Amino acid sequence: MPKVTQIQLVRVHYVPRVLEPGLLYVSKEFGAAVHLCACGCGAKVSTPLGPTEWELRETDRGPSLRPSVGNWQLPCQSHYWIEAGKILWFGTWSPEQIQAGRRAEVAKRQEYYEKRERQREGFFLRLWRWFVGLFR
Ligand SMILES: [Zn+2]
Repeated sequence: MPKVTQIQLVRVHYVPRVLEPGLLYVSKEFGAAVHLCACGCGAKVSTPLGPTEWELRETDRGPSLRPSVGNWQLPCQSHYWIEAGKILWFGTWSPEQIQAGRRAEVAKRQEYYEKRERQREGFFLRLWRWFVGLFR
């Protein structure tokens, strides 16, 4: 299969078993986007969607997916961005870059959970202050 340079968004409930190249299947119900690796190797690439996962945006020209898609678990090791319906290719990443990318991902996740934790702490602190205030 040839390299894919453009991709279109298709909304589905269930992702079909046989995928077509150049289509990004998005299932809101399952919170995931699935597509065939843009290099043409035929591998299925699944990207979970969510605040700590990938973020999908729709533009007039097509879907954008962030962060980039790095298929280092696949033999092809392809890495690209999906940006406004276009596949933007990276060169092959070095092992150091792959590690740095993973670290960035972990940091992003950690930041999200820490923020949530702080918000929760804020809630309990307010509750505590209210409670203490009752006995003043
Ligand atoms: Zn591939």
